[in-house]
Amino acid sequence: MGSKHWAVVGGGMLGLTLAFRLSQKGHKVTVLEADQELGGLAGTWEIGGIRWDKHYHVMLLSDVHLRNLLHDLELEQEVSWVETKTGFYCGGRFLSMSSVWEFLTFPVLKWWERMRLGGTIFMISRVRNWHRLEKLTVEKWLKRWSGEIVWQKIWRPLLRAKLGESYTKTSAVFIWAHTQRMYKARSRRHGRETFGYVHGGYARILNRLAEVLKQRGAEVIVGAGVSEAVVGGGGRIVVRLDNGVRREFDRVVYTVPAPIIAATCLGLSSEERSGFNNIEYLGIVCSSVLLKKPLSEYYITNITDEEVPFTGVIELTAVVDKNELGGLSLVYLPKYTMDEEELSRESDEKVKERCLSTLERMYPKFSRKDVVDFKVSRARYLMALPTLCYSEYLPNMETSIPGVWAVNSAQILKGNLNVNETIQVVETALNKIFENYQVQKSGTRSKLKGWLRRSWRLFLGRGRKLLSWRL
Ligand SMILES: Cc1cc2nc3c(=O)[nH]c(=O)nc-3n(C[C@H](O)[C@H](O)[C@H](O)COP(=O)(O)OP(=O)(O)OC[C@H]3O[C@@H](n4cnc5c(N)ncnc54)[C@H](O)[C@@H]3O)c2cc1C
Repeated sequence: MGSKHWAVVGGGMLGLTLAFRLSQKGHKVTVLEADQELGGLAGTWEIGGIRWDKHYHVMLLSDVHLRNLLHDLELEQEVSWVETKTGFYCGGRFLSMSSVWEFLTFPVLKWWERMRLGGTIFMISRVRNWHRLEKLTVEKWLKRWSGEIVWQKIWRPLLRAKLGESYTKTSAVFIWAHTQRMYKARSRRHGRETFGYVHGGYARILNRLAEVLKQRGAEVIVGAGVSEAVVGGGGRIVVRLDNGVRREFDRVVYTVPAPIIAATCLGLSSEERSGFNNIEYLGIVCSSVLLKKPLSEYYITNITDEEVPFTGVIELTAVVDKNELGGLSLVYLPKYTMDEEELSRESDEKVKERCLSTLERMYPKFSRKDVVDFKVSRARYLMALPTLCYSEYLPNMETSIPGVWAVNSAQILKGNLNVNETIQVVETALNKIFENYQVQKSGTRSKLKGWLRRSWRLFLGRGRKLLSWRL
């Protein structure tokens, strides 16, 4: 494929990585991002005068795709790795579940329940054919292996912490992918979870991506929401922005959530449009609390008490060096939900009040006087929910409109949402894109060759006839 001008719609980690890889292949790229800043879910903001991620982000030693990208961006040396602890908040007390021993002696469960829990985790780790798990709800599958009590005491609270009430619609692929990832997070040496982060957080990664894109001659435009894309004259794609600007490109790749593709990409077939619209998305209300003192020693505290208004406590500074955050502690309080109303019902002030009063109840040493800053982030489209038989209904990356591609995190089939999986989607997409154009090109080439061969034979035949007539 000769050099083309590509528009990448969406400047999140997926869009920026895709733009970077296209520019490495010699293409001209324009990134169109609706927001005033790049990054999407991995975006950053100022909290207490410090720039850090709006949502908690860590990486695993096994995140090879992300680590390759960091290597290419010359940031791999900037990663720190830290062993962490995981806690449980059950019935008003904190319990550690950070090692195999703590797991085997977990006091909330009787010994035979622990055996069933361990057996279920072992079973999950042995599953290779994940397609079979798509046909069962996660609830049904876990109850089958762990039994009702372990389901009620462990699995259900954990699933609610990750999915809100939408766990009821989720297939068993979710827990399979989650367990595989958590297995990989454990260090070989101590069996503890080990997480990494880049010094400076995602601001550093995003700035570097923007920098290398510009060095490669790519355009990166923020405040450029795409309101429609339509095929114009000569097969070029006309993109209209929210601000009325009109641009033309050879190819367009959408990296935004599926319902936005359905709404803005004109000319999709009705099947494709409903395919995109039928993908169900989980949303999030995620509070960030910047504190003078840490809350606990755990990176993640899973909450099994249902009346708590957030589904986990993520103490980022159990992983990230406090000096990165001016010596302060950064804690995230996420609440995952699909309920549109729940996402917007409460004002930031109300969310703050409920979160702080709950922290007072949970942590006796916590004081409001220690709160330096509190911010609330809301995202409607966080993760495509792996519903039953999800992979069978997913629209193709290559749309029916020539030159228009739909490459987003909804294409993650064997994993849950994280940046590593997101980058893997980019790699799969690039293979498909270039294979596709290679086939088209070799198709055109073989047509041309056939035509030349036929013309040559015709010419020779006529020549021979002419020659024999002359003779
Ligand atoms: C609370 C939370 C915790 C997480 N923790 C981790 C973690 O620990 N480790 C990890 O690896 N990952 C984590 N993730 C996941 C990670 O953030 C995502 O995998 C990644 O950011 C997804 O990137 P994306 O580009 O696919 O999507 P997005 O970030 O959603 O990007 C899409 C972009 O498109 C833009 N856009 C939308 N509509 C338009 C339009 N019409 N025109 C132009 N642009 C448009 C949006 O503004 C956005 O910037 C976490 C996410 C959250 C929310």
